[in-house]
Amino acid sequence: MSNHRLRLNDGYSIPQLGLGIWQVPAATTADTVSAALRMGYRLVDGAAIYGNEEGQGEGIRNSGIPQDDIFVTTKIWNNDQGYESTLRAVDASLDRLGMASVDLCLIHWPSPAQDRYLDSWRALIRAREAGKVRSIGVSNFMPSHLERLVEETGVVPVLNQIELNPRLQQAELRALHDRMGIVTQSWTPLGQGRSFDAAPVQAAAARTGKTPAQVILRWHVQLGASVIPRSTRAAGLAENLDIFGFALTAEEMAAMATLDEGVRCGPDPITFA
Ligand code: NAD
Repeated sequence: MSNHRLRLNDGYSIPQLGLGIWQVPAATTADTVSAALRMGYRLVDGAAIYGNEEGQGEGIRNSGIPQDDIFVTTKIWNNDQGYESTLRAVDASLDRLGMASVDLCLIHWPSPAQDRYLDSWRALIRAREAGKVRSIGVSNFMPSHLERLVEETGVVPVLNQIELNPRLQQAELRALHDRMGIVTQSWTPLGQGRSFDAAPVQAAAARTGKTPAQVILRWHVQLGASVIPRSTRAAGLAENLDIFGFALTAEEMAAMATLDEGVRCGPDPITFA
């Protein structure tokens, strides 16, 4: 089991490794979540838009692991941005999860065209005061969005969940996070497998006896990020959990840095509405 945790700027902490459940079918989410938790996962990354919050909650309850030991994340979808609508969305997520509160709630995308993320942020601050969410953060925020939140509200997000993988290494944004005290969390950490055959990944895999996926997940850990790979297979879940018993050398980390192409798998946060 992995008990590696990262400190958040509000005094709480988050497991460094978690299970992502985007595109996990609603009908099988509870089983996947329970299986992962029994294996040692302690963080489940969900979102209203994934359509499987009921299964996320059910899987946590079925796992036999005390809910207090499990870190639960959900996210506010773009259509729910705005003050009142975000407050309603928090309540709706809690209803679907069957929980009185979550550990972390994120604004899923800045959606600059709507220009409502400040109101959504104020609502999350309110939800935190009301005890419905313990920590609050954002996802897919660019530097200007992060800086505006802090200028207008004085409240720094605990975390920014961003696309991060060997082809999109986000060095500038990670450095800004470090300066602001924001944890970086990597989504699509395996980059759709597009770097599995790259020479630095293959060389580190050969030296350590690990798989390309494990090498890449280990690279995230050594960047200091929290990472939330998704797998629905027992073998995949176990493989992705087993990344704390080996380390990449400084040379291997430097070789990984050469894979950055600045290419996204997912949407551009500036234009995604
Ligand atoms: P991922 O990088 O976790 O990759 C998942 C894919 O890789 C699946 O096809 C899976 O079968 C395969 N895979 C998993 N483990 C493997 C292994 N060991 N070897 C080979 N293949 C393996 O991608 P993801 O699901 O897109 O991202 C992870 C999580 O990030 C999501 O589930 C979700 O929780 C979150 N996410 C957030 C956002 C956002 O906007 N905030 C966007 C996308 C994803």
